Amino acid sequence: MTDTDSKPTGTPPTNGHKDSKPATVPHVVIVGGGFGGLTAAKKLGKQPVQVTLIDRSNYHLFQPMLYQVSTSGLAPADIAAPIRDTLHKHKKNTRVLMEEVTGVDTQQQLVFMQNQQPIHYDYLILATGASTNYLSHPEWESRSPGMKTLADGLEVQQTILGAFEEAEKEPDEKKRKRLLTFVFIGAGPTGVELAAASAVHIRHILSGNFQRIGPGDARLVIVQGPPRVLPTFRPELTKKVEKKLKELGVEIITGVHVTEMDEHGVTVGDEYIETENVFWLAGVKASPAGQWLGAEVDRGGRVKVQSDLTVPGHPNIFVIGDTACVMQDGKPLPGVAQPAMQGGHYAASVIADRVAGKQHQEPFKYFDKGSMAVVGGTYAVVESGPIHTAGFFGFIMWVFLHIYYLIGYRNRLQVLLTYFFAYFSAFRRKGGTRIIMLGRKQAITYQQQARTLDKPEADTLDKTAT
Ligand SMILES: Cc1cc2nc3c(=O)[nH]c(=O)nc-3n(C[C@H](O)[C@H](O)[C@H](O)COP(=O)(O)OP(=O)(O)OC[C@H]3O[C@@H](n4cnc5c(N)ncnc54)[C@H](O)[C@@H]3O)c2cc1C
Repeated sequence: MTDTDSKPTGTPPTNGHKDSKPATVPHVVIVGGGFGGLTAAKKLGKQPVQVTLIDRSNYHLFQPMLYQVSTSGLAPADIAAPIRDTLHKHKKNTRVLMEEVTGVDTQQQLVFMQNQQPIHYDYLILATGASTNYLSHPEWESRSPGMKTLADGLEVQQTILGAFEEAEKEPDEKKRKRLLTFVFIGAGPTGVELAAASAVHIRHILSGNFQRIGPGDARLVIVQGPPRVLPTFRPELTKKVEKKLKELGVEIITGVHVTEMDEHGVTVGDEYIETENVFWLAGVKASPAGQWLGAEVDRGGRVKVQSDLTVPGHPNIFVIGDTACVMQDGKPLPGVAQPAMQGGHYAASVIADRVAGKQHQEPFKYFDKGSMAVVGGTYAVVESGPIHTAGFFGFIMWVFLHIYYLIGYRNRLQVLLTYFFAYFSAFRRKGGTRIIMLGRKQAITYQQQARTLDKPEADTLDKTAT
């Protein structure tokens, strides 16, 4: 039981789906069509409510496979599913708006958008995720793309492909070396997956495709503040991962921070590494939902929610996923897909119960299904219940789990086939998705424009990340 359970089920329904007419059933507004928001929408699609899901994009992005787009293994459409299609079955009670949400009026129960009239809610679910956190160096954003959005993933891809093309044309050996040096900052799962996949990708591409440059010319370095890579995994698995990374040709620098970054390189501890390619994988901060609500947030900007995922003082507002700080067993839940999905399911159940006039007694309880990361090719590390493994078996577990959770049948089939060709044939060397569309500089400009939509954001720091 929480302090919200005894309160009424939001305000009486007023104007929901059709904005000018009173609605006959409660109107649930969900902001964010990511893992949390989409799960909630699917469950509410079967309930006697009107649902409006608002997302700034028209697709759901499967972020766990974003590094595969960056390393040209998969195309963007393989890991992004149109939200409208995904919710098509529920179209009788669910509408989708592609819009940027800019704020919430909790008194009048209104959601504000960039290009639309405010819309009234009876229940609100905020599932707006997180964005890259450059800690105390926001100026590094323009020099080192992160890995959060599809545009980020493409920017990394275009940077890598563009660097090869520039290096092939570059007669000066020193400059060529700089173009072929890749620095990955942050060795959590995202950093490790991207560095390892890049090593494999670079080896494939540089073998035989160029005249002036070859696989031996590339240098890959992963930098990590804490003393070991994948610090949330057991030390014995970390050791195996470090060994695997070294086998793939990735240099590991741990226990030091990047202190400076300029257009020709980064300072890591005492070393200045000359490079044109720096990728920032060292942390995220929550979306500004906490600011919209004037709610208490943690250091990462996440809204401190109650055990039923509602915001204190607002029994009809739920915050879930990466935007929420949910405490369980004295610790905040990790910012991964499962808490978001389970949170979406839970919030929808609470709303369904309240609409049915029932009290939802159970607090939210997260069931931890474990963690995993792919370390290049067919090697993955898995920690799930009694299973702790690193190697091919881990990879098989990773493939099935991730493909199972990919939204949309077409994506699942397509990704499986792509994997089949990528791993069991010379497919990548022949083609893959290695098209330079934007060019390196254009990709960066495009990305910067996209990022302006995220401002102003919670400027809270999560310094634990590196
Ligand atoms: C590269 C990468 C790899 C990852 N790998 C794994 C993994 O292997 N396993 C795992 O469990 N987790 C992984 N994660 C974490 C996982 O993806 C997130 O925890 C999960 O996406 C959180 O779900 P969410 O619903 O809270 O937010 P998201 O899935 O990020 O969805 C948020 C949605 O809100 C929308 N939105 C945001 N702001 C607004 C606004 N103002 N107006 C309108 N719409 C808005 C966004 O467009 C987005 O669709 C990874 C994350 C990244 C970035």
